[in-house]
Amino acid sequence: MRPRAKSKPNSRALRVAPTVPLWAMSFGPSALRGFPVTGTGGRVEYRLARNAVVSEFRKGRLSRLDVCDAHPELLRAARNVGVALAESCPICEETEVVHVTYVFGSRLPKNGRCPTNPTELARLCRRPDEVACYVVEVCPNCSWNHLARMYPAGGRHRVTASRARRGNG
Ligand SMILES: [Zn+2]
Repeated sequence: MRPRAKSKPNSRALRVAPTVPLWAMSFGPSALRGFPVTGTGGRVEYRLARNAVVSEFRKGRLSRLDVCDAHPELLRAARNVGVALAESCPICEETEVVHVTYVFGSRLPKNGRCPTNPTELARLCRRPDEVACYVVEVCPNCSWNHLARMYPAGGRHRVTASRARRGNG
């Protein structure tokens, strides 16, 4: 006889909020492709992970449905406030990809703050509370998306930055 308990291994993982679908709650950092499982406290580049996904797509192991699934909010941000890169989309190769930055931290909206210009981003990075800035590569055409990098700012990182500017190390 097969043990029945092993027949539904995913039920607990999916039940983060029993009554509310995940997407309806917020656009959190965990919704971003390549979101790190462990925090390091420092800047993290995700170029290698991103290239691995692109490579899998080109080998036919991932479909467009797998990789072109940007959340509607992320797409809207990409079209309105995305910073254009001189780099065409690795998936559709028709449009230049853009970078969208989300800032997460205490006393910020649960779904993060998406600064609309460099001044607002700089102000968020000078906050007394530590924040985490997530930069996402997005294609506004085909909805390709992947985390590009994460860097901490504000709090002790803000102090470090101002000391560095004064030349005190
Ligand atoms: Zn594309």
